[in-house]
Parts: sequence; C-alpha cells; structure tokens
Amino acid sequence: MIPYGRQDIRQEDIDAVTAVLRSDFLTQGPVVPRFERQLADRVDAGHGVACNSATSALHVACLALGVGPGEIVWTSANTFVASANCARYCGATVDFVDVDPETGNMSVAALRVKLEVAAHDGQIPRVVIPVHFAGQPCDMGAIGELADEYGFSVIEDASHAIGGNWHGDPIGSGRHSDITVFSFHPVKIITTGEGGMAVTNDAGIAEHMSLLRSHGVTRDPGCMSREPDGPWYYEQIELGFNYRLTEIAAALGESQLARLDDYVERRRALAKRYDRLLSGLPCRPLARTPGAESAWHLYVVRLDDPVRRRSVFDALRHRDIGVNVHYIPVPSQPDFARLGFDMSDFPGAASYYAGAMSLPLHPGLSEGDQDRVVSALREALA
Ligand SMILES: *Cc1c(COP(=O)(O)O)cnc(C)c1O
Repeated sequence: MIPYGRQDIRQEDIDAVTAVLRSDFLTQGPVVPRFERQLADRVDAGHGVACNSATSALHVACLALGVGPGEIVWTSANTFVASANCARYCGATVDFVDVDPETGNMSVAALRVKLEVAAHDGQIPRVVIPVHFAGQPCDMGAIGELADEYGFSVIEDASHAIGGNWHGDPIGSGRHSDITVFSFHPVKIITTGEGGMAVTNDAGIAEHMSLLRSHGVTRDPGCMSREPDGPWYYEQIELGFNYRLTEIAAALGESQLARLDDYVERRRALAKRYDRLLSGLPCRPLARTPGAESAWHLYVVRLDDPVRRRSVFDALRHRDIGVNVHYIPVPSQPDFARLGFDMSDFPGAASYYAGAMSLPLHPGLSEGDQDRVVSALREALA
C-alpha cells in the first residue's frame, strides 16, 4: 500500500532517541525545553509549550484564553474532531463556521455574517479556531481584523501547517492570533510519535499553559499562596492535567525539526508535480489563496463529478493506493448532530466533502509511486 501519509525516520532520529534512553531523564529533563526553544525560534514565536498531543495543546490553549462553561468557541466545519472537542472539554459551547469549498478553509465571508448575527444576539465567541486545512494558511489578515473588531481571541489549529507561511510570516509567529498549535502525529509534517506544541508571544499565556500541562502544580514560590514548609514543597494552584511530552518524544521532534525545510520543500515539489500530471483530468486541486504558502500536509483533489468519488476511491484502494478523505464535516458526526447541528447550515463543507479525496503525499513518496497513483486515478476517472 502506498499510504496517504507516512513518517520519515532516519538514523539520526534513532540515535537521538537512543541517546535519551541512555540518559538520566526519560521525562522532565533538558530535551523538552530545548525542543520548545528551537521550534519557537523556527516559527518566530516567543514561547513554546510541548504537550503529548495537539489535542491536549488545544485544550490547555482554550483554558489559558478563558474558555469555560458559558463561553462560546467557533471552529471550522471541515477539520478533525479535535479542533472542536477542545472547547467541549472546557464545558464551553462549540459552533462551526462554514468553509470555502474551493480551499476547505474557514470562509471569511461566512465568519463575518455569523459574527454580525452573534453581535446582535450578544453571543460573540471567546475564541475562534481557524484550521489551516491541508497545510494552506487561512486568510489570517482578515480573521485577525475581525478578532480586533469583535473582541475574540484566535487559536490557529496549525496541525497541518508547520513550515507554512502567511504573507512571508511563518505560521506560528502569531501576528494575527494569540496561540498556534502544531501536531506531531506521524502523518503530519514532523513527528514525535504522539505530540503537539502550542506557541505564543504572550509569556503569561505560555506560563499558564505549562502549568495546566503539568497538574496545575508549581514549585515557583512566587506563584504560591502559602509559605513553603520545606524545600520539598510544591503547590497545586489550579486543576491541571498530565499532558507532558516525554524526553524520548522530544528528542525525535528535535531531530525531525532539523529537516523541516527539506520536508516542506519535498512536499511542495511533489504537489507541483501532481498539479502538472493531473491537469486535464476531471478533477482539480484545492484553490490557492494569494499570500498563503502551504506546508503541503495533504494533496486533495476534488472530483468534478462527486457521484463518482466512491468508485474512484475503491478503484485506487483496490490497487493498494492509500487514498483517504479529509474530513467528514464535524457537525455531521453523531456526537455533534446530537447537540443540534444540521448540515444544511454548512453548505460549503457539505459540497467540499462530497467530492474530496486525498492522494498520497509524504517525503518518502517516489516519483514512480506518484506516477502509479496518477495512472490509477486517470484510469478510474476514464
Ligand atoms: C491531527 C489533528 C489534530 C490532533 O492532533 P493530535 O496530535 O493527534 O492530537 C487536531 N487538529 C487537526 C486539524 C489535525 O489534523
């Protein structure tokens, strides 16, 4: 099977992990803070808070921005369920903004209309979570302006987008947002096995997220409410979690991060090649947003005739080509439909979903593999 995504593990990754296994610390040692510093520097962010998944990073990001019961969080209708679940973990109400079916990204027009209605009803969300779908940045300039106008915070779900840029600024630089979250799941751009990181330019938010990541427990006398009764003393000052990344995972992340530019470059070259090989077929790639440089997590094609998606999908899988579909619109999931969501409110996501298919794209994909994918697709579409 040619998978749609796959990690790339080299000898230097294995050496980095092995060195940690032989060291004194498997967790809470020097590698996690070093990885946080390196990644934050790479994406032009002030601070990084590593977590054991992007899901947990999204959770602490929401909490640090004051999301709780009675608050509202909006995210994209076209995303993985985790972008919405983080709000539910906090006891908040989640809602969705429809997407532009041509890019799969949050529609700024839909966001604007929804904000006008929400302002009228006194229901402005505390946080909006745009998702850089497939690695292509959303229109962060417009979203940032709306955030200023309406007074909500922004968490970029950049699980797909490390290495991408918006008008020359690295995703993570936080020019138009409060926090950006990356995922290191093995299908993403770089991996730690499981893992994620929240980056921010706000030292207070970073400190709060790292407290929440580690039980809400502090050893900093400045944060304590009582006098320490000995050098062993620590205080739980808030209910937190164990969302820590291990040293083992961070070593892998650090080693992978050193190849981030190569990965994105390779993905971009393969995507360009797909563009060329697929031209003339009755399908099209996602539309490109001016100013957005994708990290190319996914290469999605949209079939001109969505009715044929199932048969084309089956034909490719039958040939051991690991096509996939990203994403089933979250509001259509049973556990969200139960909350009252109705897909007729998300025509962009429904139309996008009907004809979408992700083709294999990862750094280990050879041009020969890619030719196989394209010829199988050409045949299935004939
Ligand atoms: C992968 C992914 C997540 C969750 O990442 P984990 O690290 O697996 O928790 C969240 N949002 C999006 C858009 C993703 O693709």
